[in-house]
Amino acid sequence: MAIDATCEVASGVDLGDRGRDTAPVPRTSEGDEALARAAALLGRARRVLALTGAGISTESGIRDFRGPGGLWTMDPSAERLATIDVYLSEPDVRRRAWQNRLTSQAVERQPNRGHRALVELERRGVLDTLVTQNVDGLHLAAGHEPQRVVEIHGTDRDVMCMACGARRPMAEVLGRVRQGEQDPACSECGGILKAATVSFGQSLFPEDLARAEEAALRCDLVLAVGTTLAVYPAAGLVPLARRQGAGVVIVNGEPTELDALADVVVRGRIGEVLPAMVAAAGEAP
Ligand SMILES: [Zn+2]
Repeated sequence: MAIDATCEVASGVDLGDRGRDTAPVPRTSEGDEALARAAALLGRARRVLALTGAGISTESGIRDFRGPGGLWTMDPSAERLATIDVYLSEPDVRRRAWQNRLTSQAVERQPNRGHRALVELERRGVLDTLVTQNVDGLHLAAGHEPQRVVEIHGTDRDVMCMACGARRPMAEVLGRVRQGEQDPACSECGGILKAATVSFGQSLFPEDLARAEEAALRCDLVLAVGTTLAVYPAAGLVPLARRQGAGVVIVNGEPTELDALADVVVRGRIGEVLPAMVAAAGEAP
């Protein structure tokens, strides 16, 4: 099942603001019942495909894009600045992007309870693959086996040369920016450097998309967490898995584009409901 291999996601934009404080969603008996049904599905699953988006990282202080208070909701022009053509053609945009990264990465980012709950699923041997739309590296920092994780929109822990493809650690290149290089060039070929993320107008890395689609085809449950399921091809993994008979559990603070496809939708603060669901799934008979 082909999924359009073009992608929409930002990279060169300001990620500098600290995360918004997500208001707790009031717990209701309806919410508790949804959580119990989701835990029961999770407890029966043997090959889980977890699909995560920005919502799982907001509690680590990383702002999302499309949620309420998100970067692009508040400033739609920032979305334009995240396109690859603009980044490549406008040195001023690159200088801003590097300065913003200096600020946004000044504080070490830490995984939160939501990330750790997914590591617990891996420890139980039921997590087949984790596909994340996030570029923050927090799932790997939380302790997943790297071969189980597909960072489908790349990572901002690395920098990539747009001419020769050479990769360097982000920390090293930010060190050069701090020393005064406003728009650091590739030390191999002089080409333009960019975070190793997939920007608007860039294709996904084909091997990452292939791994994600294979996981969707073999999983028995999709657990979508903190994503509005509005960005393709990542969101397309949900209907792809559903068509193969997989169950679908969606955990998000707000409604998503694909709620109608889900067996259970759990609304709530991810750092609370996801650990509760994983714990309850572990107790299931
Ligand atoms: Zn180069």
